[in-house]
Formats: sequence, C-alpha cells, structure tokens
Amino acid sequence: MRLFSATIATETNTFSPLPTSLDAFKESVWLRPGEHPDDAPRMCTAPLFVARKRAKQEGYTLIEGSCFAASPAGTVNRDAYEFMRDEVLDQLKAALPLDGVLFGLHGAMVAHGYDDVEGDILERARAIVGPDCVIGVELDPHCHLTLKRMKNADIVILYKEFPHTDVQDRAEDLLDLVLRTIRGEVKPVMSVYDCRQISSYPTTLPLMRGFVDRMFALEGKDGILSVSAAHCFPYGDVAELTGRILVVADGDKAKADALATRLGEEFVSMRGKTMPEYHSIASGVQQSIESNVSPVVMADPADNAGGGAPSDNTSILRELIAKDAQDAAVGPIWDPLAVRLCFDAGLGATFPLRFGGKIGPTSGQPIDAMVEVTALARDCRQSFGPTTVPLGDCAAIRIGGVKVVLISNRTQALGLELFRNVGIEPTEQKILLVKSTNHFMAAFGPIAKKVLYIESDAPLSRTYEKIPFTKVQRPIWPLDKETNPGLIF
Ligand SMILES: [Zn+2]
Repeated sequence: MRLFSATIATETNTFSPLPTSLDAFKESVWLRPGEHPDDAPRMCTAPLFVARKRAKQEGYTLIEGSCFAASPAGTVNRDAYEFMRDEVLDQLKAALPLDGVLFGLHGAMVAHGYDDVEGDILERARAIVGPDCVIGVELDPHCHLTLKRMKNADIVILYKEFPHTDVQDRAEDLLDLVLRTIRGEVKPVMSVYDCRQISSYPTTLPLMRGFVDRMFALEGKDGILSVSAAHCFPYGDVAELTGRILVVADGDKAKADALATRLGEEFVSMRGKTMPEYHSIASGVQQSIESNVSPVVMADPADNAGGGAPSDNTSILRELIAKDAQDAAVGPIWDPLAVRLCFDAGLGATFPLRFGGKIGPTSGQPIDAMVEVTALARDCRQSFGPTTVPLGDCAAIRIGGVKVVLISNRTQALGLELFRNVGIEPTEQKILLVKSTNHFMAAFGPIAKKVLYIESDAPLSRTYEKIPFTKVQRPIWPLDKETNPGLIF
C-alpha cells in the first residue's frame, strides 16, 4: 500500500493590507520531503505527521511531499501559490501508483486568480491519481467547504474544537478512514447541508460545546463515520463563505443526507447564540480596572493575527494608559521596527518610542510615549498545544502601570510564554489584554478569573454587516433576514 501526504496552507483574509508572499511561507513552515521534524506537527501538517508515525505498524509506504504553511494574512501572491502547488503536484505524479493521498490543508486560502485554492489543488490531484485512489483531506473549521472540494475528495474531516486542540486527533481519524476505505472495509459517502450563515462558534461556550459533544457521540455507530461543522471564515470574501455541516457515512447516502439535514437545522437554530458577549473598549477597561478578582483577561478578537489582522491596533491599550491602569500587561503588539529600536536603546533605557498603529487605518494611531525597556529577548517562541510558534525577537516596555510585549514575528496570543519570555508573570497581573479570538483560551482560560471580549475598531469586526463583502452568495444571515438553508451535496 502506498500513501502520499503534503500540505499547502494559510488562512486568507482578503480584506487584510498584508499580502502573503513566498517569504511568508519560508518564515513559517517550509519543509521539503523528509524534512518534517519528528517532535510535533506544524501548522496543518498533522496528516503527514501521523501517517509517518503509523506507516510501519499499518504496513504501508508513505511518500512524503512538501509542507508549506504561512501565518494568516492577505491574499496570496499568484506565482507563489502556483510554485508551491506545482511542486506538490509534481511530487504526487512521481509517487504514482498510489492507493491513498492525505492532504493537510487549511481551507480558507485565497490566491490572486484563485478564490478556491483547495478546490484547485484537489481537482488537479484527482486528475493525476485517477478515480480509484482515496483522497482524504483535513481542514480547519474556519474554511470554505466548497462543492469543488467535496466532488474531488473521498473523505473530508474538520477539526471539531475551537480553540483547535484536536488537530492531531482529527488527522488520526482521517488516516483511519482512508486506510479502512483502501482495505475495502468501508465505502465513504459525504453529504453537506448549507446553513447560509456567518458566525463564530467558540467550543468553550456551553451551546457549541454541547453540539460538538453530540457530533462526537454520533460517530462510529449506526454507519456514521464522521461529522464535521464548518464554521466559515468571515474575512475571506469568496462565493461559498458560509456555515456548513458535513456528514460522512458508510455507503448509505440517504442516511448521510438525513443526519446532515438534522444537524444543519440545529446549527441554523443556534444563530445569534454562539458568540460571547462583546464589551465596548471603555466598558471593558473600566470593568477590568474595577474587578476585585485577577487576572482579568481581556481579548481583542478584532485584532487577531490568526485571522489575518496586523495585531498592531492601539485602541484598547490607549484606553488602559489613559485610565492609568496598574499591573496591566498587553500582548502581542506586532512592531518589528519598535523592537529594533528597543534593542538599540538597551535594557533599562527610558526613551521616547513611537509604536503600533502602523499598518492601516484599522490599526488606529501609533502611541508616542516615554517607555522603559524592561526586557529584551532574541528568537522567542510560544506554545499552542503540542506545537510551538515563533515570536521572533521580543521587547517588553513599560508606560506607567502598563507593560507591553512587542514582537517581530506576527502571531496571536497563544501561550503564557508570550509574557514569560520577557519577564512578565501573567498570573501576577491584574489585567491581561491579549490579541486573539479564542485560541488564547487554551492557555489563558485556566489562569483567568474573568474573561472579557472587547469589540475594538481593529479589522476583524464581529458585526458582519459592517464587512464590505462583494462575492459572498446571498442571501446569508445576518446580512439578510430571509435565507434558504438546505442540503447541497
Ligand atoms: Zn481556525
């Protein structure tokens, strides 16, 4: 038995002012065949990682392709995408004959000229491997689950958890199903229900937690092989941006249709009830200062680098400084130039620094202040589940009672090391402001005595009616009141 695996992944915010080039992939995940480390999967590479581990015991040969992944940002350079795609497809051709293919993709990548990158990859891969080779795909739930992908893949599985703590577990599920299909033990058929809705679904909140637990409970019995919920990625302006439910059943299409419809209708009934409460900047800062428990963790989801935002918006920070907040720490502000200036000034220096507010109008205005450089650290990392994420060179600065972590490699707040690398103990702060939508909850949830989500003026607004969509198929909730959800595949 011969399997092939590769990754091309990023999450594209088509409204982001930060273009994604080949360099963005080289800075993040750029691994040629055989180069993938053995310690842990990188972004979206879990299918290759688990397939390598289990090859011997399951008795197949794994042919490793390249793994390319970049941090979320704006639309990908066309030449860059075609270069990576053609490299992987050439590897696929050279690996023939194949029984199975495992793709680790994100599912919300957009390149200039390609609104459905993953559909393009899968269509071309199918043309190469033929109809009998089993193609399995792992996607992030913040994906566009397009019909082109469903038509060209045999098995598609999405992570269920948000924060995404189950990337490796779902890759194991995918490998199990691909192997069972090749061995003739199951015949996967897929059904998709389109819920016609845009929303966010942290699985740390009770309603979505219950939904995901029921999805798990349905799997592995009564002919149901896998159940996934595509949340959608609200900041990718493509036709098939929408929430969808996907069911994989063993041979029985009617059964898959019925379950996808039942779960899809339930997902529709959850509209407006799956997001946390959002506070204004003034109210959030006031509540955190007045709180009698600590730390209070404030999240700035609208400036989440993990959704393609610059992570240099200053609005909440400015309010913390204006209100003279004490024992407060903010991170990360992405500003490599400011980090450089802090290194130039030196540890312990107090000097006038302009930082943040640089990339676009939704970054707010830069902050000009006399800052004290309290820590400098080269080549830092933070952890997220089993993976580690580079932060680059970091500096901690202090303005009154507010400390700020400046980073060089744009990423969201994921691990407590973001602060600890630069001598700030997060558990000892009264207020922590983190830039992240919900992944921060994996590490910061357990230390938070209170969590406040703030709606700032950064680019990833939760008020979806404010996003200037041009390509999204209508009608769709909440942009339209009347919609027509239904089975589409
Ligand atoms: Zn995601």
